[in-house]
Amino acid sequence: MQIHLARSAGFCFGVRRAIKIARDLASSHQAACMLGDLVHNETVIRELEDAGIRKIKRLGPGAKRTLLIRAHGASRRTLALARRHGYALVDATCPMVHEIHRIVRAMDRQGRRVIVIGDRRHDEVLGIIGQIAHRAVIIEDAARIPWKNLRRVRQAAVVVQSTQNLDRVRLIVDRLKTRIADLRFFNTICKPTRMKQEEIKLLPLQNDAMLIIGSRTSANTKRLYEISKALNARTHWIQTPQELDPRWFRNVRALGITAGASTPETTTKDVIAKIREMTGAAPRARRQTGA
Ligand code: SF4
Repeated sequence: MQIHLARSAGFCFGVRRAIKIARDLASSHQAACMLGDLVHNETVIRELEDAGIRKIKRLGPGAKRTLLIRAHGASRRTLALARRHGYALVDATCPMVHEIHRIVRAMDRQGRRVIVIGDRRHDEVLGIIGQIAHRAVIIEDAARIPWKNLRRVRQAAVVVQSTQNLDRVRLIVDRLKTRIADLRFFNTICKPTRMKQEEIKLLPLQNDAMLIIGSRTSANTKRLYEISKALNARTHWIQTPQELDPRWFRNVRALGITAGASTPETTTKDVIAKIREMTGAAPRARRQTGA
């Protein structure tokens, strides 16, 4: 069995950058914490906690403590509250997310209704809508556009959660255009996500089975799985090598593998080693781009 590993598998630059900022902070021996997960991966979070960065669920008094702002960013309210509680802030927000924040603030100031295409409970989306004074409209899919909230909207600006699926986004934007006369669309899906999505449109067609590695809490991993599953029914989603099932590899001559943007390379390597052990697959996994 040949193993084809996607070129774009694993950490994107935003996650890599956030982890470096976190490690540097940990090695400075300041009392530091993160509000929720810095990135959506349990292995990474455990490692940071072991290095001394405490995970907290809500902001309490924080004098003499440093708060690490996660890669997905945070709302203005959260930042103001953290300052009020006395935290010093270290910002690991991805520059691509900062760019989305800049756009929505500018569009809101211009008087446009801000529309965000994304998962309404995702931290990144909460951070985006938390940048502006007026209420934003969130759209999760084309079948559930909240038209009644858009009834009187004449001017709007659409941004997209950085890890959304471009095809689904286009469908939503096309529908919005039929009802909103002046609509500005900013395709804010980030470059690493686009590369992953381009590859995942081809790899499932070029391989007999597909394996997607990443946390269940990772939005971009979920998206990769959905796209792959639609193209290749023999697509499986795992978080760790322990979840591998030897039956998945029966009659498989070529296996495609990709990993979410917050999946460490060590996890991917461990998965590949375990597959080799189970199947006697070719000794090296070839990096392959579908594009
Ligand atoms: S997925 Fe994109 S936006 Fe999110 S951290 Fe990575 S590069 Fe930044």
